[in-house]
Amino acid sequence: MADQRLVYADPCDLDALRQALADNDPEHKLCPIQMDRIYIQHQAIELLPDIVREHAKGPKVLMVTDATPYYRGERSLKEEIYFLLSRTCDVRWLVLDNHDHVLHAVDEESQKIQQAIRGHGADCVVGIGGGTVTDLCKDASHAVSDEMPLIIVQTALSVNAFSDGISIMLKNGVKSSLPTRYPSILVVDLDVVRQAPMERNLAGYGDVMATWTAPVDWYLAYRLGMNNTYNDPSCDILRRQNTELLDASGKLAERDPDTFQLLARVLTLSGLAMGIAGESCPSSGTEHIITHLLDMSADKQNRDVAFHGAQVAVGTIFTAIAWEILLAEFDPTKVDLDACYPDEEKMHGEVQKAFGWIAQSTADECWNGYQKKLASWKAVRPAFEDLLAHWDEFAAEVKKHLVSPAYLCQQMHAAGAPTRYRQMTPPIDPDTARWALRDCHLYRNRFTLSDLLYYIGWWNESFIERLIQRAEELDAGL
Ligand SMILES: [Zn+2]
Repeated sequence: MADQRLVYADPCDLDALRQALADNDPEHKLCPIQMDRIYIQHQAIELLPDIVREHAKGPKVLMVTDATPYYRGERSLKEEIYFLLSRTCDVRWLVLDNHDHVLHAVDEESQKIQQAIRGHGADCVVGIGGGTVTDLCKDASHAVSDEMPLIIVQTALSVNAFSDGISIMLKNGVKSSLPTRYPSILVVDLDVVRQAPMERNLAGYGDVMATWTAPVDWYLAYRLGMNNTYNDPSCDILRRQNTELLDASGKLAERDPDTFQLLARVLTLSGLAMGIAGESCPSSGTEHIITHLLDMSADKQNRDVAFHGAQVAVGTIFTAIAWEILLAEFDPTKVDLDACYPDEEKMHGEVQKAFGWIAQSTADECWNGYQKKLASWKAVRPAFEDLLAHWDEFAAEVKKHLVSPAYLCQQMHAAGAPTRYRQMTPPIDPDTARWALRDCHLYRNRFTLSDLLYYIGWWNESFIERLIQRAEELDAGL
C-alpha cells in the first residue's frame, strides 16, 4: 500500500515530502527536489520583498515577464509587484515582447534574459507569468548560474511546469524537454490565480488530466524495458489528490476557493513528480505527444498555439479510450510477433511523411529520436514476449489506475473545460487533429501506448476513426 505521506503529500512542506520520498526509495532512484520553498496561500505576493532579502546575496533583481497585461481590478499585477520590490531592491524589469504573437520558449528569448542578468549584475531573477516565462527563466538562469536564486510567481494555474527542473524548449521546430533547473522558490498567490481568466486555470486542470494516462504509459514502457526511470512515489503523490480534484470538477466551475487550492497543489505535485523522476514521463505520455504535434504544426499553419493543458485534456480522452479498447479486446495469444518489428527503411519513410511537410529539420530531429526507439524496441523483444505471457497481471495493475473515458468527459463537462479540439483557442481543424493522432507515435524516442498499438498493428486510420467515434458519443473529441 502506498505511503499515506505520499498519497496526501503537501508541496508546501518540502522537508516532510523529502523524508517520505527517502523512506520509499530503496533503490535510490529518485532525484532530489532542488527547491527551497513553495508558497501556495492567500496574499503570497506580499511576501516577495522578504523572500528576496532572505535568498538573494544582494539587492539587484531582474524581473522577467511577458507583455500580456494582467489586471487585478484597476491595477496591473506586474506593476504592483515591480513597485513592491522597488521599495527595497534595485529592480530591472525585462519584458519579453512577443509582438502580438504567442511567446515561445526559444533560445533567442532565453538569450535576452541571460544578457539582462549579466547586464544588471542580478543577484536573483523573479519570473512572473505562465509556463513559457517559467521555462525561459529556468533555461536562462541555468545558463548563467544555478547558484543564483530563481523566484517564480505563477499568475495562473495554467500548466505544471512550475515545480520541476525541466524546460520545454522549441529547438528546430520540435519541442524538447531539456534538463535545466528548478525555481528556488515558487509563489502561488491564491488570490492572483483565482482572478486569472478561467480558460487559463482550466488549462492547468486539463494538464493534470494526464495523470490518468501518462503514468500508465510510463509503466508500460518500464515493463517493456523501454524506460528504467519508472518509480511508484512519482505516481503516488499524484493519484489520490487528483482523484479528489476530478471528483470536485463541478466546484471549479463555481470558482470554489478550496477547489482552486487543490488544483494548485495537484499541479505543483505534478511538476514535482517529474522532477523526482528526472524526466517528464509521470505527467507526459501519449496525450502530450499528440499535443506536441499540434503545436509543431501551428507555425506552418499560421495559427497560434492553443493552451497546452486544454489540448492535453482532449489528448487524454483519446488516450484513455485507446487504453479502454486495448484492455477490453487485446488477446496476447493472437499477436504475430514477427510482424511487430518494422524495418528502419519503412519507418524512416513514415517519419519523413509525417513531418517532412513541416520542415526537413523537424523530420530529421524526429527520426533521430525515433531511430533509437526502434532499435531499443527490437532489443527488448524478450521483455515483450514476457509481457504477453503475463498480460492479465499487467492489465489488472493498469486497470487500477485508469479512469473511464466516460467519467473523465462527464467531469470535464462539469468543470466547464473544453473536450473538443474545435473548442480550442484558436480551434484545431479535424484534419490536423487526425494527423496528430495517427502520427504521434513517430515523434521522437519516448515509448508510449501509441507505440505498442502501432507495433501490434492497431494504430492506423481505422483505429483513429474508432477513437473519434467513441469520443463523439461522449460529446468530446474533434
Ligand atoms: Zn503538460
